[in-house]
Amino acid sequence: MRARNAEKRKKDFKEVALGLTEKEAVREAKRCLQCKKPMCVTGCPVEIDIPAFISAIREKDFKRGIEVIRRYNMLPAVCGRVCPQENQCQGKCVLGKKNAPVAIGALERFAADFEAKKGVPKKPEKPKLNRRSVAVIGSGPAGLTAAAVLAKTGYKVTVFEALHEAGGVLTYGIPEFRLPRKIIEREIDFVTSLGVEIKLNWVVGKIQTIDDLLKEGYDAVFIGVGAGSPRFMEIPGENLNNVYFASEYLTRVNLMKAGSFPKYDTPVKRGKRVAVVGAGNVAMDAARTAVRLGAEKVYIVYRRTSAEMPARLEEVEHAKEEGVEILFLSSPKEIIGDKHGHVSAVRCDAMRMCEPDESGRRRPECSGNEFILEVDQVIMAIGQTANPLLTRSVKKLRLWGAGYIEVDEEGATNIPGIFAGGDIATGAATVISAMGAGKRAARAIDSYIKNKK
Ligand code: FAD
Ligand code: SF4
Repeated sequence: MRARNAEKRKKDFKEVALGLTEKEAVREAKRCLQCKKPMCVTGCPVEIDIPAFISAIREKDFKRGIEVIRRYNMLPAVCGRVCPQENQCQGKCVLGKKNAPVAIGALERFAADFEAKKGVPKKPEKPKLNRRSVAVIGSGPAGLTAAAVLAKTGYKVTVFEALHEAGGVLTYGIPEFRLPRKIIEREIDFVTSLGVEIKLNWVVGKIQTIDDLLKEGYDAVFIGVGAGSPRFMEIPGENLNNVYFASEYLTRVNLMKAGSFPKYDTPVKRGKRVAVVGAGNVAMDAARTAVRLGAEKVYIVYRRTSAEMPARLEEVEHAKEEGVEILFLSSPKEIIGDKHGHVSAVRCDAMRMCEPDESGRRRPECSGNEFILEVDQVIMAIGQTANPLLTRSVKKLRLWGAGYIEVDEEGATNIPGIFAGGDIATGAATVISAMGAGKRAARAIDSYIKNKK
């Protein structure tokens, strides 16, 4: 997919990837073999009928293409942009065995953007309200999907969102240069057009508990609060000034518009030499944001090799084009401060990869050498974890690991009527897996309420 010139784009927050033209989309769609047993579908967590939508694009019936996708996926313009397709649908495409797989993600984005150009998506017929109501907590991809599926089934759905804008990580985490706000707003408008009400600035667990909501008359509750709490490395110096947790850094810039401080109230450190620790999508987003805030040098510090990097390939390529330098086999052991308590350098261990263990996984170990990286800002992007604020307020809710909610395959918790899904149940994962969980839980909530009735 074509992208904007790296030198120009790194000075602004406008979208980087340009999407396919009509001609390119039809040509790409013609590569699809229309397999009888399409492996691509098995790689899609929401099981989009991929050959059917590609066939529609091939026939230049773009409207039918997006209609097929929307039957399975509420957020096609988002997924077409941020899904790790190389590990999902495209990773399973038979053409990928010998050549490039069909660019399914790019085609999905093309169909969704076609719909955007033609105006609002066609609203499905609204079924008659069944006089039952469901509370959804959190408006990220899990919550929005659960809400939309339930609304389509006839439930009155209220979404409670802690922040002042809906969308979860899509709004506060993923930067505009990857996912423009207008796209998220459009997808959220689609969900509210189904009759879903979104209450903002509503921290469930503080303002109201889940018990309160059930007593108020909601027949069931879906928890989709994500996993937004910081994780640090627990090395010396992490409490120095100008050490950020990546989500906080990104929230300041994306949601609070810190890049335009003092026009907006929230400030952010504009580092000149920045080290971002980690190599997932969050790390790439933080590094590329630092570039756009004027950093002269941005490093990604990663303790493994390129083969283990969890970020989407496209983001890694774009980051490199924008001048981000990736230091592989490097693990921070101390953040060093100056006399004012500000970051001045990071001491790192040089690592090497061990032979694979019984599970086949290669682990990094210290090589015995170390080096110093002179930087004035450090951004930790080594993962997120569950926030206990809500879960602590629900008596006897069964949790696992670092406070994630235990659910069965359908999203049911150990408490009847309370369901959960997305990152709060799985740990930090992907947009599409959160959507899949929202969809499955919505179906289970429908069965639960019908059985109760
Ligand atoms: P979230 O998106 O986290 O949404 C949870 C919502 O619940 C939030 O809006 C939060 O404010 C709200 N909430 C929390 N507590 C409460 C409460 N007590 N009361 C009310 N509301 C509450 N995945 C990809 O597939 N591709 C990518 O490219 C990608 N890039 C990413 C980049 C970043 C910077 C980050 C942080 C994540 C990225 N991910 C990506 C992961 C993906 O965004 C998440 O897996 C996904 O958003 C999880 O969805 P969710 O609905 O479970 O939670
Ligand atoms: Fe087309 Fe590839 Fe899916 Fe086969 S596996 S239907 S070639 S996209």
